[in-house]
Amino acid sequence: TRSPNSHRTPGSSGTSVSALQGEDLRNHRFDYLIVGAGFAGSVLAERLAAGSNKTILVVDRRPHIGGNAFDYYDDAGVLIHRYGPHIFHTNSQRIVDYLSRFTDWRPYEHRVLAQVDGQLLPIPINRDTLNNLYGLNMATEQEAADFLASRAEPVDDIQTSEDVVINQIGRELYEKFFRGYTRKQWGLDPSQLDKMVTARVPTRTNTDDRYFGDTFQQMPREGYTKMFERMLDHPNIKVLTDTDYREIRNEVNFGELVFTGPIDEYFDYRFGKLPYRSLQFKHESLEQEHFQPVAVVNYPAEDVPYTRISEYKHLTGQVHSRTSITYEYPSAEGDPYYPIPRPENAELYKRYQKLADETPGVTFLGRLGTYKYYNMDQVVGQALALYKRIEGAAHTQGER
Ligand code: FAD
Ligand code: UDP
Repeated sequence: TRSPNSHRTPGSSGTSVSALQGEDLRNHRFDYLIVGAGFAGSVLAERLAAGSNKTILVVDRRPHIGGNAFDYYDDAGVLIHRYGPHIFHTNSQRIVDYLSRFTDWRPYEHRVLAQVDGQLLPIPINRDTLNNLYGLNMATEQEAADFLASRAEPVDDIQTSEDVVINQIGRELYEKFFRGYTRKQWGLDPSQLDKMVTARVPTRTNTDDRYFGDTFQQMPREGYTKMFERMLDHPNIKVLTDTDYREIRNEVNFGELVFTGPIDEYFDYRFGKLPYRSLQFKHESLEQEHFQPVAVVNYPAEDVPYTRISEYKHLTGQVHSRTSITYEYPSAEGDPYYPIPRPENAELYKRYQKLADETPGVTFLGRLGTYKYYNMDQVVGQALALYKRIEGAAHTQGER
């Protein structure tokens, strides 16, 4: 259980910290400047402040904290996620314990249906998916395994997102559930993407219809933004939203820089642009209590322009006479959301990483800063690990 905080909180409007500007900003010395108020930046700021008594300025160019996990009450009064559905899941007790200092939880197991051949079927593909799609009555795991084995097309050297699926379930199921969705989501054929992308979605022979298999599956009870507010509510932490790093880098007096934005942007695209995939979100409020049976319905068909529709009340448990939903339209233009896992991009990232290693005074962190297709819990883990390294180094220096 967390301890309640009595301080004022840096809210999503940014107004509560606006006092610290102009002269004040210039006259102050911070131990750290952290760029980005998402999971990476906020967890590290909290640790450095509360764990090591450092002073930190956190800036984010968006008008709010929380990064891509930001949630808020829309005009209909429904709690929605501005950047698409964020479901917390992890196998790490340590990460749950850490975040539990800032939030209580609501148990929630994510379930997703895919619209295929006019039916809504469980994805990840399980025995029910196969029975409903093919009008079968398989009752055991063995039957489902045999069925899949009869369709699988073994691939010797599994490299791509096409290989990994075809090897497991064969071309027909691949085309129905994976090919179109992936081509829309990434603007690339699965054969051009690393296997780790589609390997995120398993295939099951039982009837487990949960999207994730993790030990811990739960949502912050009052939402992500509330959790971030408590994390950043420390006398040593100042937060400036609506503030780009470029605007203040010469105005602020700081010791170390931690950058959680895109690493190629930091280096002015010296080696060329690192590709990130974007999305356009279309949010809608409806004059009805429910829209769809589960939180997320996927649309793998290529003639449907969006990939999925999310209905937040399933995630949050909010009871309300209206409901709000979000369509996701993948796009090449816009905010960077997804690093694109494929060999040439990994090579380009390595060049930036090498440059980063040779650049003193700055450390890169997070999904954009380290160009890793990380879930939220992985970013929390990465930030806690960096904190441990910083603290360890300080300790060693102190002993010398
Ligand atoms: P971000 O949240 O992107 O934060 C980086 C911040 O840096 C941003 O707010 C940005 O504005 C700021 N910034 C960048 N450059 C600058 C600059 N120059 N100056 C000032 N500020 C700057 N993970 C899950 O675990 N479960 C899910 O269900 C899930 N669903 C997702 C759905 C979508 C559509 C997306 C895109 C991601 C999803 N994720 C999910 C992943 C999750 O969003 C990330 O793991 C996490 O938010 C990464 O945190 P971060 O701090 O690294 O980056
Ligand atoms: N995927 C798919 N069909 C689906 C669900 C996922 O082809 O119905 C593929 C697609 O390439 C997607 C990847 O699996 O980008 C990972 O899916 P996940 O739901 O983990 O994506 P995220 O939530 O990160 O966008």
